Amino acid sequence: MSDTIFGKIIRKEIPADIVYEDDLVLAFKDVNPQAPTHILAIPKKPIAKLDDATDEDLAVLGHLLLKAKQVAAEAGLTDGYRLVMNNGESAGQTVFHLHLHILGGRPLSWPPG
Ligand code: AMP
Repeated sequence: MSDTIFGKIIRKEIPADIVYEDDLVLAFKDVNPQAPTHILAIPKKPIAKLDDATDEDLAVLGHLLLKAKQVAAEAGLTDGYRLVMNNGESAGQTVFHLHLHILGGRPLSWPPG
């Protein structure tokens, strides 16, 4: 896949407010937060969107989900939070490097728009 702004963040070519990093995943604050806490968790492997993931990505996607839980806890989201993964343009995806939005710190309505 082609490079994205998240690829540049992974390579530290542009700054980001990183809250967690290991060999497989990175989590950083969203630059345009939609809730008091809005963190993005991404695999370092450049998967464009969930539809492009394969069985080879089983471990990294499981790791991403469990680290999202850890990041949410460390951010103090003890009263619930929402994980969102937009898959494709009509779902609202704008950056084509798979990512989980971790949103919390205010009541979140349902269904999302
Ligand atoms: P999506 O619309 O699901 O693709 O989400 C992309 C998210 O990336 C949006 O919430 C943007 O605000 C966020 N974003 C874009 N550029 C940056 C950046 N340089 N640092 C942090 N977040 C970003």
